[in-house]
Amino acid sequence: MSMDEFGLIERFFKAGVVDRSDVRFGIGDDAACLQIPSGYEVLVSTDTLVAGVHFLTVWDGFDIASKAVRVNLSDMAAMAAEPCWISLALTLPEYDEHWLTRFSQGLHATLKRFGVALIGGDMTKGSLSMTLSVQGIAPAGKAVRRSGAKPSDYIVVSGCLGAAGLALEQWNKPDRDPSEHRILMQALHHPVPRLDLLPFVRAYATSCIDLSDGLGVDLAHILQASKVGAMLEAQAIPVHPLVKRAKKNEALDFALSSGDDYALCFTLPQEKRAALPEGCVVIGQIQSETGMRLRDAANQLRSYLPQGYKHF
Ligand code: ADP
Ligand code: MG
Repeated sequence: MSMDEFGLIERFFKAGVVDRSDVRFGIGDDAACLQIPSGYEVLVSTDTLVAGVHFLTVWDGFDIASKAVRVNLSDMAAMAAEPCWISLALTLPEYDEHWLTRFSQGLHATLKRFGVALIGGDMTKGSLSMTLSVQGIAPAGKAVRRSGAKPSDYIVVSGCLGAAGLALEQWNKPDRDPSEHRILMQALHHPVPRLDLLPFVRAYATSCIDLSDGLGVDLAHILQASKVGAMLEAQAIPVHPLVKRAKKNEALDFALSSGDDYALCFTLPQEKRAALPEGCVVIGQIQSETGMRLRDAANQLRSYLPQGYKHF
C-alpha cells in the first residue's frame, strides 16, 4: 500500500491481537508459525466480503469487522472445529483513519470475545473488500461434514430464521420501532457463530452446515452431499416473530429463502433427540428419496425447490 503500510499494520492490526500460546510467531514475518496439538487436525476456511454485496459502505467499520469475523467463525462451528487463528486480506480505497479505527476496534473486540488470534494478512488499495481465512482444530477424524446425513435422521435448526434477511431489506425504513430495529440490525451485523453447540454437534450430528444463503439452499447442500432427500414440517420451522409479523403469509417462504442468519442446520440420529440443546428445533426428517418435500399445517405435501441467494 502506501509508504505507511507497516506503521498502519502495527497500529491498527498488530496492537490488540489476542495472545495465544500456540502462536509461535504471528504478524511481522513472511509467514506465521502455529503449533497444532498432537492428535488434532487443522480445518481451514476462507470467506470474502465485498462492499455492496455482503455489507454496505454506510455501515460502521466496527460492524463490518464484527460480521466478517463472525461469518468465518460460523464455518468452524459448522465443522465442529474450534477456531484458533485468523488472517485478514484487506483492500481499501484510501487511508481513512476513522474507518480503520472503527474497523480494527470491531475486529479486535470480536476476536477477543472468541479467543481467536489475528496471525497475519495483507493490505492492498482498491475497492473495499476483505478476505478472511480462519483456521481451527478438531480431534483427528472428528470434523462434521455435509455428507453424513442418513435416512430417518432428524433435521434440526439452531434458532429462529429470517431476521437478518428482514434487516437487510428494511435497514433504512425510517418508521421502524427503535427496539425492533436494534434487534434486526443486531442479527444482521453481529450473527452468533454457534460455537456453544460444538460439543453436541461433534458428539452426535451426522452432518452439519451453517445457514449463510438460506435454509432451503443450504439444506440442499447437505442432501446433495449425503445423497438423500428431506421432508420438512412447515409449522415446525422457527420463523423469527418479527418476520412473521412483517411478512404474514409469506413469512415461511421468506425464512426458507433468506440468508445471513448463520444458524446451524444439522442432522441427528432419532435416539439423540432428547439430548438436544435448548433452542434447537427439529424441522423434519431425512428420507432416502432425493429432493425436498414440505408438509403444511393442513397435512398437504408439496415438493419444495429451494431458493436463496445466488452470486452467479
Ligand atoms: P509481505 O510483503 O511479505 O507480504 P506484508 O508487508 O504484506 O508482508 O505484511 C507484513 C506483515 O504484516 C506480515 O506478517 C503480514 O502477515 C502482516 N499483515 C499485513 N497486513 C495485515 C493485516 N491487514 N492484518 C494483519 N496482519 C497483516
Ligand atoms: Mg503482503
